[in-house]
Amino acid sequence: MKPPICEICNLRFDPSEGALVSFVDDSRSRAFAERALAEPGFVGHRPNTGWFCGGHSEGARALSSGTRGEALAALRSSLADPDPDPDANGNGLRVPPVFRRQRSTDAETGLVEVNRPVDVDVFELHERLRVFRPALLAALGLPDEVALETRTKRTWNPMDGAREPDCPYSDRVTDEGKVDGLEQVVELDSNWWSRHSLSNASARLDIMRRPSPNEWATRICSISGSTAHLRRGEEPVVQTLRVKHPDDPAVEQLIAGFAAGLSPDTSAS
Ligand SMILES: [Zn+2]
Repeated sequence: MKPPICEICNLRFDPSEGALVSFVDDSRSRAFAERALAEPGFVGHRPNTGWFCGGHSEGARALSSGTRGEALAALRSSLADPDPDPDANGNGLRVPPVFRRQRSTDAETGLVEVNRPVDVDVFELHERLRVFRPALLAALGLPDEVALETRTKRTWNPMDGAREPDCPYSDRVTDEGKVDGLEQVVELDSNWWSRHSLSNASARLDIMRRPSPNEWATRICSISGSTAHLRRGEEPVVQTLRVKHPDDPAVEQLIAGFAAGLSPDTSAS
């Protein structure tokens, strides 16, 4: 039996945190089975099985209806492509979303795109992004010389005969600053069924450069997170922080620290 080292990321892990996944038989595993029958006492690692760490076992299990070789090829190609066409591997195996790469670089912008797991109330995330903005600007080597203006906007969405103020509505809170072509936005969007019933919400921090008023803004850095569509009584929790930032270790480290502070393990104390 092989030790528990992930077939995909080479992480050595505790067996309780990952899984030994069995795939369908291929020629190697059939030969192995024949040899095991023919040679009493023969031991070894079944070739149609593989160890997968906690981050990769779910994706591996989802591909266990193929051979091990097909599954590994599909999983590895999904790592090379941040947003793979499900059938692009040519083997008919769908690559589950859990397997999409956690860190990639956008070829056009050169920005690193990272998803970071967090566990934070979306309103708390919005406040944290407000507080975090000056530190991020400093890490990006950008001046923080403009006071942001806050605007709030409520949009009523009459439906099924219900009208303001008894119909669903959307709230947007925007902190915005523009100076010398540098644009900064911290924003909270929330959609409400009613005053006490949140449908979903998202928070973001965007730093952009706009060379002149008539040109498109170029994103320098962004951090955002959204809740799921909430059912009654569900907490408005953000579980994934979507981050785009320049390929700069200092910036990446700062944002990693910010994200780590949004997980209950580290922020509770
Ligand atoms: Zn792994």
